[in-house]
Order: sequence, then structure tokens, then C-alpha cells
Amino acid sequence: MSTPPAGSGTNLDPWYDLYAERTSGLAASEVRALFAVASRPEVVSLAGGMPFVSALPEDLIRAAFSDVMSSQGPTALQYGSGQGVPALRERILDVMAEESIHASVDDVVTTTGSQQAIDLVAKLFLDPGDVVLAEAPSYVGAIGVFRSYQARTVHVAMDSDGLIPEALREAIAREKAAGSTIKFLYTVPNFHNPAGVTLSADRRSEILEIARSNGILVIEDDPYGLLYFDAPPPPPIRTLDDEGVVYLGSFSKTLAPGFRVGWALAPHAIRDKLVLAAESAILSPSSFNQMVVNRYLETADWRAQIDVFRGVYRERRDAMLEALTEHLPGLTWTNPNGGFYVWLTLPEGLDAKQMLPRAVTELVAYTPGTAFYADGGGRNEMRLSFCYPTPERIELGIRRLTTVINGEAAL
Ligand code: PMP
Repeated sequence: MSTPPAGSGTNLDPWYDLYAERTSGLAASEVRALFAVASRPEVVSLAGGMPFVSALPEDLIRAAFSDVMSSQGPTALQYGSGQGVPALRERILDVMAEESIHASVDDVVTTTGSQQAIDLVAKLFLDPGDVVLAEAPSYVGAIGVFRSYQARTVHVAMDSDGLIPEALREAIAREKAAGSTIKFLYTVPNFHNPAGVTLSADRRSEILEIARSNGILVIEDDPYGLLYFDAPPPPPIRTLDDEGVVYLGSFSKTLAPGFRVGWALAPHAIRDKLVLAAESAILSPSSFNQMVVNRYLETADWRAQIDVFRGVYRERRDAMLEALTEHLPGLTWTNPNGGFYVWLTLPEGLDAKQMLPRAVTELVAYTPGTAFYADGGGRNEMRLSFCYPTPERIELGIRRLTTVINGEAAL
């Protein structure tokens, strides 16, 4: 075996000089680095976005595994189609119909979670230097993907009704005037991660119109749409346009992220390229996992199970909002009607990232706002997740957080 060459870079990694340029954007996400600390049992973690999988009917899932093995074992253990298992793609149409999306099974591509779909779309469209428009703040996992393709994420302001159309127009005009190539708008319209807000119906059509008239594709990422607590959110942007929108769905929040099964619904031409890109990346998504998910959907009352999740998360959202109202009345936060997240704004001058070690000492963790910006924004903001801890632990966590914030504010 040859000895690795001594790297001449500043890094101790002997292979430092050989990495592709695009890897310079690869950094451990602030969220990921937090997991180790936040998973200590004494810490109340309001940091991660882990679905509460203990609410699932374990017996039905075990039965789905066993049915797949006994009735279709050799197929489940084999390579499959790059586009995904046809029976599951058919069933995904039923899931999307819950959100009023009507589509052809041919246009559905199953993926290894919607995270892979984001990666594939980025791979298809982004050249170095291209611009992606995204909400301010935006999903940390998408920002990381865009960075890894050397694209620039340009944030567009949002308010309690989601992305602001006027701010989108201004961002497009500014970037075009600067000679940038804008490839797509990446948006999470429902129960936004991390902001917790939902895009209003009027804005959905206005934003689509702006994108269309500027020749910009819309990537609509919707893992939380069915997890509403009161009324359902407005129909997805995809219901307004078959050709200009790539819609991304996932079973991670409505079933379980461990299956790693998500999907993309794309216009025909993009769909063909997505399948080719998926085949080159992974040959085919896991046949076994797709077949188990399909069997679960076939045998379980999955709609009722989503209702169970809604109840669990609604109670936790209530606990978080009540605790914030009681303990931090001087601050502002968003009021999510679904999903997993509340976005909290601290007094100007406080730095959520700097404050985190003190918070961990007080046995509470959150995700600093800067994780959700590509441009250093969000210093006095943080994401609080209510999906995983019990209501009692959420109350305790907010009390601990209050001690930390009040301590900082008094400095
Ligand atoms: N998009 C958003 C907005 C998310 O919150 C997540 C998960 N946190 C994903 C995509 C990725 O989900 P998955 O790959 O598990 O489907």
C-alpha cells in the first residue's frame, strides 16, 4: 500500500489537495453537531426535527415487513426500477390526493427521502455561481445541497403569511440586474421549516405567476402539509401548474424517516432526467423499503394514523406556545398551524449561537437561527422544535431557556 501524500494545505488531512473544489462548501451542519449534545437524556432538546415515531402502530409495521418477505421476498431483495416501485408510486397518488394534487403515476419518482430529491434537482439544474431563491430563513438541508453544487442561495423575506411576493420581485430584479442566472425558487409553503408559517392561498398564485413570467422553476418542498392542527393549508402550488413546479413529498413525517422514502412529482421532461440522475447516483431506491411502505399503506388506516400524529403535535405546539406566552411575554415568535417548528426572535443584540453553550449548561438545546441562512443572517433568532419532547418537557425546556435569555439580556 502506498503512503498517502503529505498535503500542502493548512488541513492535517493528507488528501486535502485532492478534494474537488465544490467540497469547500461542505461543512457539518450546526444542527448535526448539536445532536450529540442534545441527545443526552437530561437535556430538553428543542433542537432536532425528529418525528415522534413511538406513536406508530409497531405491530402493523412489523406485519408489513413480514408480509413483504413472505409474499415477495426475492423481488424485495432485488435491484428495482430507478423510478421506484410502481405499486408504491400508484399509492403515492392517493397520498397526494389528500392535498388535492391530481397527477399521473408516470410523473412520480420515488427517492431516498425528499432530501435526495432536493439533491437530484440541484444536480440537474445548478452550475457553479447560479442563484437559488429561498425563503429567509430556509431549510438547512437544502441550503447545504445548493452550496455543495456551488450555487448561491439568495434569501427572500417572509412574514406570517409566508414568502412576500414583492420581496421576490425585488430579489429577481436585483439579481438579474447584477447578471446572475436564477435557476429556481425553493420554497416550503406549509408549516415552514424552520419558520413555522404557511404561505397564503393568494400568495401561492402570485408567486407562481412571478416565477412563470421570469422563467424560473418552482421547487415546492412539502413534507409537512398533511400535519395540520386546525384547517388544512391551501392547496399546493403544484395544483395551479403542472409544468412549472417540481413537487417534493416524503413519508418521513407522516410515517417514519427510517424508511428513507420520499418522492418527486415532476413535469415529463424533468422527470426523465430525474430518473437518469437517480440511476447514476444510486441505481434504484431500496426496493425492500418501498415495498414495506406500500404494504403499510395497503393494510393500515394511514389517514387515521396521520390524525394521531396531528393530535400529538397539536398538544405539543399548544404546550410550547403557552409556555412562551407565560415565560417570555416580551419576545416575538411564530404561531404554527401545523408541522414541527416555532421561530423565536430574541432582543436585538443577543446572539443565539453564542448563547447555546450556556443553554446546554442549563440543560436545554435549540437550533441557532444562523443555521438557516446562507448569508450569516439570523443571529438573534432560533428554531424551537416541539415534535419530540412531551408537553411537560417542553414547558420545562422553555423555563430553562427563559433563565438563559434573561441572564443574557441582563449582561
Ligand atoms: N425538506 C424539509 C423542509 C425538511 O424539513 C426535511 C426533513 N427535516 C426534508 C426536506 C428531508 O426529509 P426526508 O429526506 O427525510 O424526506
